Amino acid sequence: MNLNWKGIPRDEIPWNPTIEESKCTGCKKCFEFCKHHVYRFDEKAKKSRVARPLECVVGCSSCKGLCEAEAISFPPLSMLADLLKSRGIDPARPA
Ligand code: SF4
Ligand code: SF4
Repeated sequence: MNLNWKGIPRDEIPWNPTIEESKCTGCKKCFEFCKHHVYRFDEKAKKSRVARPLECVVGCSSCKGLCEAEAISFPPLSMLADLLKSRGIDPARPA
């Protein structure tokens, strides 16, 4: 896990997927796709869960487009821009 992003501690950055449970059909696509093991699959409930939110790559939302049920959401990218601005960090700074 990257412990920080552009100098900001990762645990201070609220960037991770959220699953709307009632919409999740249990197709497992997000779970199988994410190489960072953000998701786990709850076999009992037949739903994906966000198990390791801090492993999510800041700014990534690749899995969202795979979810045909449109159950996955992310914060707006503007949240990250605002966070950098509030900390006086140049957005061009390498992650
Ligand atoms: S891709 Fe969507 S519907 Fe499929 S398991 Fe993930 S959240 Fe549920
Ligand atoms: S956005 Fe990227 S890193 Fe985050 S859970 Fe989805 S695929 Fe994994």
